[in-house]
Amino acid sequence: MTYFTHPEFKEHEQVAYCYDKTTGLKAIIAIHNTLLGPALGGTRMWKYESENEALTDVLRLSRGMTYKASVAGLALGGGKAVIIGDPNRDKTREKLLVYGRFIEGLGGRYITSKDVGTTVDDLEIIRTVTKYVTGIEQQHGGSGDPSPMTGYGVYVGIKACLKEMTGSDSLSGKTVAVQGAGSVARYLCENLAKENARIIITDIYPEKVQTAVRSYGATSVPPDKIYDVEADIFSPCAMGAIINDKTITRFKFSIIAGGANNQLADESKHGKTLMKRGILYAPDYVINAGGLINVADELNGYNFDRARQKTSQIYDTMLEIFGIAKKGNISTHEASNRVAENRITNAGRK
Ligand code: NAD
Repeated sequence: MTYFTHPEFKEHEQVAYCYDKTTGLKAIIAIHNTLLGPALGGTRMWKYESENEALTDVLRLSRGMTYKASVAGLALGGGKAVIIGDPNRDKTREKLLVYGRFIEGLGGRYITSKDVGTTVDDLEIIRTVTKYVTGIEQQHGGSGDPSPMTGYGVYVGIKACLKEMTGSDSLSGKTVAVQGAGSVARYLCENLAKENARIIITDIYPEKVQTAVRSYGATSVPPDKIYDVEADIFSPCAMGAIINDKTITRFKFSIIAGGANNQLADESKHGKTLMKRGILYAPDYVINAGGLINVADELNGYNFDRARQKTSQIYDTMLEIFGIAKKGNISTHEASNRVAENRITNAGRK
């Protein structure tokens, strides 16, 4: 296995391999870019099949955080970490403590938060040995669960898409097809329902679907049917790569705007196909930045109103990106990449 010639190596500044014999900790911390500030990104714990799979994941995810923080206008860089192991079986307090000391050893170049396989409780353990942790519990001065802010940001982003497509950002009477009925979807639906949008929802867990049906007057469809429904907006809020060769021809939506990460199976190809089909795509890392904005705010002493105000700016950021895409005749995903890269390049010149 190589690093500098790895296909996902994209000028990452630093990759730290962390190992501890006593606890069996195996972790990789990737710092992609710190030109805008310290690298912030969650720690994922996952039962990777191989070390290379873990490295691939952490390289991709850390770069994504650089772009997300940059477009959100935060003074933060991009980083991410992975702990190799089954979070249900291999996670121990001792392992998390050793891991926290490795973070401390990076002297603030990397700040962690939670991700798949780690919890706020885990962060509470990690923060006993390092101050470079964010997204902790509210009773300890933290910002708590980021999902409400992510859901709110997705709602705001959907309104920006409507404004761009129709000239009005009113959701009243519009139909939104929501994929997934988890945390982000829940807070998104709350906002949609308040504005009398019609919601079509799906999830692989019927009880989650039933809750959404009861709470928001949503109608439901089986998971695979969500791609075929008649709706104005498709909001992917479950897993990634759902915009792919198989699904893209089925869409009857004019807008795709949701909270899931890495929605385009192939960023360049599927971004362009959506553009050709006249479907307005909200770049995922722009519209779902509310959670990052929320945890980032904690670094200055958490203030809910300030974090919400900053999250509201997703509306204007999206309109700016749509303008750049139209002017340059490029996909919205490419346009947001340009915005992110310009800000980093300018920071590098200072
Ligand atoms: P979650 O686990 O609470 O919800 C995801 C839901 O998707 C679950 O209910 C799951 O059953 C459902 N699901 C999985 N596969 C499905 C399928 N094939 N069809 C329909 N439903 C399916 O997770 P979440 O925190 O709501 O995150 C949702 C997405 O948003 C993820 O991609 C996540 O990475 C991204 N995201 C979340 C946040 C946040 O603040 N929580 C921030 C940024 C991005």
